[in-house]
Amino acid sequence: MTSPILMNDFRRQWRETGDKVLAAVGAVGESGWYILGKEVDLFEKALAGYIRRRAVVGCASGLDAIEMGLRALGLQPGQKVLTTPLSAFATTLGIVRAGGVPVFVDVDESGLLDLELTRHYLERDPAIRVLLPVHLFGHALDLQQLEELKEHFELSVLEDCCQAIGARFSGRDVGSVGQAGALSFYPTKNLGALGDGGALITDDVSIEAACRSLRDYGQTAKYVHEHLGLNSRLDELHAAVLGRAFLPKLEVWSARRRAIAKLYLAGIRSPLVRPVPVASKVDSAWHLFPVTVAAEARDAFLLHLSERQIQYAIHYPRLIPNQGALRGVPFSVLGDLTRAQRFALEEVSLPIHPSLGDEEVARVVDAINEFRAS
Ligand SMILES: *Cc1c(COP(=O)(O)O)cnc(C)c1O
Repeated sequence: MTSPILMNDFRRQWRETGDKVLAAVGAVGESGWYILGKEVDLFEKALAGYIRRRAVVGCASGLDAIEMGLRALGLQPGQKVLTTPLSAFATTLGIVRAGGVPVFVDVDESGLLDLELTRHYLERDPAIRVLLPVHLFGHALDLQQLEELKEHFELSVLEDCCQAIGARFSGRDVGSVGQAGALSFYPTKNLGALGDGGALITDDVSIEAACRSLRDYGQTAKYVHEHLGLNSRLDELHAAVLGRAFLPKLEVWSARRRAIAKLYLAGIRSPLVRPVPVASKVDSAWHLFPVTVAAEARDAFLLHLSERQIQYAIHYPRLIPNQGALRGVPFSVLGDLTRAQRFALEEVSLPIHPSLGDEEVARVVDAINEFRAS
């Protein structure tokens, strides 16, 4: 009887961290303070140090971080925001909730927003002043190119770093080019809470202040409301668990993800299953390990994995502009989305969580190398 290989193994994570988590919960209970207290403050400071940004503003989710970040960047109702069609729906939902109009541009061969095409469309439409790129799969976009675009077109840039905490391009951190970035602490993320959470990251004092206000009903002082804000506070409980139990492990967990990625890259020898290419200057956070399989063989490949008790996921089976929720919502598509559509049909994500053992990784590699087209 082989045991299943899971996409995420939260029970193993609990065995590793449960004592520390319970101690963190105890500390919050003892403190008698549950909302916006010293645990949030300590966690924000510790995380800012880890990701080398000036400020972290904890909030309720990655989605809220995107909405608040765009509003803090000064996004005006009806303004266009250029982004990728291949991401979590939350990326686009954040734009719409902030009053923006999503503008979709195709991805490159790595599945990330194509920055060459982006340049092309920015040249043609000077009304596009805001960019929301996504460091998808944990792979950093070309930050040098991103910065050139930002400077040349004087753009407001919010980086969606929800999958990419700790990722770098040429030694440079994701989140360091845009005026702000968004993080998610959804449980499956590389730094995941025991529930929902997120953060806005920035070096800019006024963006930080705006987000501190927006997450707390738009208050600038107690009972003084300057903006129509949200209730999007990070709880003391989540902050304590993240700051005391999980953040101290993140470096080791990330190193394990990188080691597993190396094993996959060295081991996968199938002509039918190809790891998604990553540029050589990218030091990925390996949130996911994406491969592609010819569209007509994908169902057979998924069945092959299931029969071997190997879990998988697809990121993402339906492009954002094709989602029903956007019916009647203003958006536009620039050019065609051929490459993104191909990812939707061909992508498969393999397990890469940090508590996978080497034998389990070898089982996945063997399963892939044994796959034959029928
Ligand atoms: C998870 C995720 C989000 C949304 O984060 P939540 O905390 O679930 O709201 C946004 N963008 C990307 C790329 C994500 O992976």
